[in-house]
Amino acid sequence: MPLYEYEHMEGWAKVRRHVADEITLLCDQHHREKTSGLLPLEAVRVANASPFNLQEGASKPYTLHFSGEEALVTVGGNRFSCADQGYGTVMVPLSVDGIPLIGLVVADGHLLLNVVVFNEFNEPVLHIKNNQLYYSTSPWDIQLVGTKLTIREWRSKILIELQFSPPNEIHVLRGRLLCNGVEVLIRPTHVLVTNNSSLISGCSAINCHGGLIIGHHSRPMSGFFGMESVPRYLGDRSAALEFEREHARNG
Ligand SMILES: [Zn+2]
Repeated sequence: MPLYEYEHMEGWAKVRRHVADEITLLCDQHHREKTSGLLPLEAVRVANASPFNLQEGASKPYTLHFSGEEALVTVGGNRFSCADQGYGTVMVPLSVDGIPLIGLVVADGHLLLNVVVFNEFNEPVLHIKNNQLYYSTSPWDIQLVGTKLTIREWRSKILIELQFSPPNEIHVLRGRLLCNGVEVLIRPTHVLVTNNSSLISGCSAINCHGGLIIGHHSRPMSGFFGMESVPRYLGDRSAALEFEREHARNG
């Protein structure tokens, strides 16, 4: 898996200490199995003594490998491209009020994924920081099939789907992202901001580091679409969804 978590092999609840030799990296599935007792400590110890990723030379995010002078990012079919300016080039497909809900960093020829997901109560429920599953309030279903990464929380139907097309394209295909009273629905062909029924499709920008930029940013960011003021916390999205259906009917 391209995303990983830190695991205290002896059990954090038991030892309450951070000692490097007692910590290993697991994908979230194996981490869950270990925590629930399905994966024995001994199996984790054996694997830790001879880590899979060390044998392979690189972890599976091989599929998140990046090369080229320019990255192309699409969000619901809208696109922006930016030049790789060397270590740490940042691309922000979606940002609300200065919070990058989806961010990508190019480092060492790899793409590092950053995602922050909020629920309806504006509480963070998932935080992926440079490919590390940094924080989550409940188990998420994370799947990498081929080059498509799907992150899903069933209970609240929160979903993000990304396609990595090596060496230099990243596509945000689907998503439902909430932040500060703004709801953004990303579909394969367009983006819908339900607050003001804005349907964004076919936009294109070159040489910028942002995609859809909503709200106020203290450090200005250019994107293929900027939306400074948006009515917040509307709650009723039926009008926006009807508008979207109408748009689909009329092609
Ligand atoms: Zn695993």
